[in-house]
Amino acid sequence: MSTIEQRHHDLLADLQAVATRFGRPLPRLLAVSKRQPAAAIAALHAAGQRAFGENYVQEAMAKQVELAGLEIEWHLIGHLQTNKAREAARHFDWVQSVDRLRLVDALARERSSELPPLNLLVQVNVDDEDSKSGCRIDEAGGLCAAISGHPNLALRGLMAIPAPDPDHELRRAAFRRMHALFDQLQALHPGMDTLSLGMSEDADLAIEEGSTMVRIGTALFGKRE
Ligand SMILES: *Cc1c(COP(=O)(O)O)cnc(C)c1O
Repeated sequence: MSTIEQRHHDLLADLQAVATRFGRPLPRLLAVSKRQPAAAIAALHAAGQRAFGENYVQEAMAKQVELAGLEIEWHLIGHLQTNKAREAARHFDWVQSVDRLRLVDALARERSSELPPLNLLVQVNVDDEDSKSGCRIDEAGGLCAAISGHPNLALRGLMAIPAPDPDHELRRAAFRRMHALFDQLQALHPGMDTLSLGMSEDADLAIEEGSTMVRIGTALFGKRE
């Protein structure tokens, strides 16, 4: 087995062990492939990985050309400018970074009715940071309602990137706020099934606090250039 296949195998076993330890369901693994070559994606695909996350529309589209023919579920996880909504709506299966109404409307307008509905997560700025994308906690409900009104969009849940604070308990508190918000909104929108929390550094804690999808780059592909 190549290194990347071995890491994938070990990571899946780790995720399973953590989920079992905390009595949580096994989260989905999103392989974050930004700044990684298409060949690395192809290797993970051969190992059975199907969901890949990219931060930039153009970078993802270039890899999609190289990987044409492989069955891959593409997730956009980086900040999305409204003027890129057209390409995002055509070239991705999920957008995890929806944080404003204008973007919801643009994605609804641009998603072709010939494609399955575009899966969306509302990104929440859970630590109320100044310079970060994501809506305020009190804006998430309105965005979910707006998404659920469009037949070519599918509201799947919430995503957050907590502040890079070394304090374990602050991070835990942020994950708990997200879980509480998720429960509250899921009661209104039963189709919500995804709480996207946790990256290489904090995936274990995120799973403990109820994440259903972890987004892992470094721990899978190694350091980015
Ligand atoms: C880069 C990125 C990740 C993966 O980060 P790692 O620390 O490499 O696991 C996850 N989520 C988002 C939104 C990212 O931009």
